[in-house]
Amino acid sequence: MPGLAPAFPVDVAAPRPMQDLSEPVTLPAGAVLFEEGAIGHSAYLILSGRIAIFQRRDGGESVLGRRGAGELFGEMAILDALPRSAGVRAEEDCVLVPVGAAQIRQRLAGADPILRLCLEGLIARFRETLPRLGPAVAGSRPAALSPAARADFDATVAALAQERALRRALAQDEFALFLQPIVRLATGRLAGFEALIRWHDPERGLVPPAAFIPAAEASGLIVAITAWVIGEIGRIVPPILQAGLQAPASVETSLFVSFNVTAQDLARSDIPGLIDAMLRRTGIAPGALKLEITESTLMQDPAGAAAALARCRAAGLGIAVDDFGTGYSSLSHLSALPITTLKVDRAFVRAMLAEPRDRRIVQTILRLAEEIGVAAVAEGIEGRAEAEALAAMGCALGQGYHFGRPMPQADALAAAAAWDALRWRCGPAELADSGRQGAHGARI
Ligand code: C2E
Ligand code: CA
Ligand code: CA
Repeated sequence: MPGLAPAFPVDVAAPRPMQDLSEPVTLPAGAVLFEEGAIGHSAYLILSGRIAIFQRRDGGESVLGRRGAGELFGEMAILDALPRSAGVRAEEDCVLVPVGAAQIRQRLAGADPILRLCLEGLIARFRETLPRLGPAVAGSRPAALSPAARADFDATVAALAQERALRRALAQDEFALFLQPIVRLATGRLAGFEALIRWHDPERGLVPPAAFIPAAEASGLIVAITAWVIGEIGRIVPPILQAGLQAPASVETSLFVSFNVTAQDLARSDIPGLIDAMLRRTGIAPGALKLEITESTLMQDPAGAAAALARCRAAGLGIAVDDFGTGYSSLSHLSALPITTLKVDRAFVRAMLAEPRDRRIVQTILRLAEEIGVAAVAEGIEGRAEAEALAAMGCALGQGYHFGRPMPQADALAAAAAWDALRWRCGPAELADSGRQGAHGARI
């Protein structure tokens, strides 16, 4: 081994910024990849071969460890941006895949602050206890928390407090489902409601979902929250459907209630089973319910989502893709999913009247929905002009503050009982239509 180290270590990915970091690199037996004290630009996955991790002290060299195929090395310096605490030499011809510091940092930036803080603590502790830290790294450790780590610390304390509060909210039944009307634009009749969660926090009052759903997703509590939502749907939907049946002139007989689920719900809990048990318990017809799942969520794990959605669809539920147009979906994925409804994101609806480009996007989505035989719901309709423009473009259903804000169950019951279809009608009377059959044979 002595004498094999080249004059310049070859930390392969570092000196060549244009190189594709995911490309494997070869390292001949005996070559030094990097030395102690070097700035770390990459960690490495070993596809084949074997490396030794070494330190030179007092003219001698000690091997601290060896890594072989399927293992990772060099990760510490890229995580904390401090100099390498040891060098690495190939003991055999190696094929390595570099994992760039920039790639890691990009992922860490999007990670939960609790994860980032733990990682930072772990690395700091590890460096502290490395008994053989050499002069190259001595004194280079930050004396106190960096501003970024301080921000993570504060965010972590807040996230843990929120997680505690959410657990309490579940235990003490502090959530409520509000209902927002969905209207058939041509006739003005009430077609359904979307159930939207609210949190009655005793300290903060009514908290909107944007303030706690992300934390619930990060902590995994979303699964328990969705189970609560499904139970609550079972409780509040029968009286709503009943109220609708009393007013057939202004409420569609196929009145539905949709509710939101996440990718995590589909992956981690038996959503179809939970819904099935709730339907059996309550006697709600499956066609009266619709799952809403965002387009970006669907794209996270299309295959995983497809299986659960197929079971729900087979049981008779509608499946709506939420926030459509914002999630970069692949149309081939969409065609594989048992979708019955596309919800046009409110960003396009809001900009539609002023921006011809947004209007064309809305038109394109509506045409796509028609081509694949699913219903379209335009979200975020705030004024009559938008509602009429959408009706003229052939959009079947609309939802937004124009027709009604999300409201407590008692108000939704009253709204269903006294719905005024004429007031909300956006098309000529001859377009009146009591609900059409979708391509999938269900009420959409
Ligand atoms: P979303 O599913 O896209 O729901 C529509 C959101 O747009 C609701 O906000 C609704 O109040 C709001 N909205 C409706 N009409 C208008 C309008 O005309 N103008 C404007 N500016 N906004 C309008 P909300 O209730 O705050 O919910 C926000 C998001 O939180 C929902 O977006 C959904 O992604 C999520 N969410 C709500 N309830 C649940 C739930 O039970 N489970 C899960 N996983 N997510 C939920
Ligand atoms: Ca939704
Ligand atoms: Ca939406």
